[in-house]
Amino acid sequence: MSQQIIDLRSDTITLPKREMLEAILEAPLGDDILGEDPTVNELERRTAEMFGMEAALLLTSGTMANQVAIMNYCNRGEEVIMSKYSHIFTLEGGATSAVAQVQIKPMNVTNGVYDIDEMASYINEGDIQRPKTGLICLENTHNLNRGEIIPLENMKAIKELADKHNIPVFLDGARVFNAAVELGVSVKEICQHVDAVQFCLTKGLGCPIGSMLVGSKEFIEKAVINRQRLGGGMRQAGIIAAPALYALDHMVDRLKEDNDRAKKLAKKLSSVDGISIDPAHVHTNVLAPKVVKEGWNAARFIEFLADEGIKVKHIGENEVRMIIHFQVTDEHIDKVIKAYEKFADLR
Ligand SMILES: *Cc1c(COP(=O)(O)O)cnc(C)c1O
Repeated sequence: MSQQIIDLRSDTITLPKREMLEAILEAPLGDDILGEDPTVNELERRTAEMFGMEAALLLTSGTMANQVAIMNYCNRGEEVIMSKYSHIFTLEGGATSAVAQVQIKPMNVTNGVYDIDEMASYINEGDIQRPKTGLICLENTHNLNRGEIIPLENMKAIKELADKHNIPVFLDGARVFNAAVELGVSVKEICQHVDAVQFCLTKGLGCPIGSMLVGSKEFIEKAVINRQRLGGGMRQAGIIAAPALYALDHMVDRLKEDNDRAKKLAKKLSSVDGISIDPAHVHTNVLAPKVVKEGWNAARFIEFLADEGIKVKHIGENEVRMIIHFQVTDEHIDKVIKAYEKFADLR
């Protein structure tokens, strides 16, 4: 009997919808390095408008967008303050040192809240020995294993601190739309507290490729050059932009469903024996339950779930991660709950 696999490892595993692929066939195309791809131009215009900023740029990945932003803002050898749990610090192949040539000052973040005093203590004006703080990088939702929302007042306080020292604030907003729909605000409202932002088209929005960088006209003009230096200039990139335009129209508001399913699942799992999860810590579409049953660890639990047709990600000795996305239905959630209950009954 063939079994349908429920893949909860990430929202990046989502496949483009048929409508996205059809949009590609209809899209007018041109050479984007010459600025002549109408579909890319339309996507960049729409994105800038959505974020309440002057301009936007399509890039191939979130990693490239993050690195271009850092290259834009920082001189070689400067320091960038960011969460020690952030994607830029932990999962970009050391690009900040190898490519952007800055160093990172990692800081603590608790439940999505950046400690303002700690952040302030790391700011350097720069002298003969200490590197100048060139940039503050935030991540919202914070921490890809947690999906926490940075409270708006925390973002505001960070921006005030940064302004006092004349330091720009960049947001890695890979999943910023998950935060926006949860807070019931527009991304504009979140991003009023930053100078520039990137978001991923490939996570919950379900596109096959791409990230958008958004900021001032001057910032984006510089980003075009840094993208080119990284080999990220593209020709008929409208084939990437067409699914993205579809996503902005049809995939944003529905992210609330993913958040809601994640919360429903967290609540159910919190009462399952042998599993530890605090539903209050599930802000958006990411869950990280701990396996707390004698003789079990994450590796063994993952094997058990795989036999039940469920894929999750290993993130710690006793911890797995599940991300809810549009390919996960209520029926799937019920199956996942059943599998966990079966686990609870095992010896
Ligand atoms: C996925 C992700 C990125 C990087 O995006 P890629 O397109 O995979 O390079 C950056 N930051 C965060 C928080 C992410 O979740």
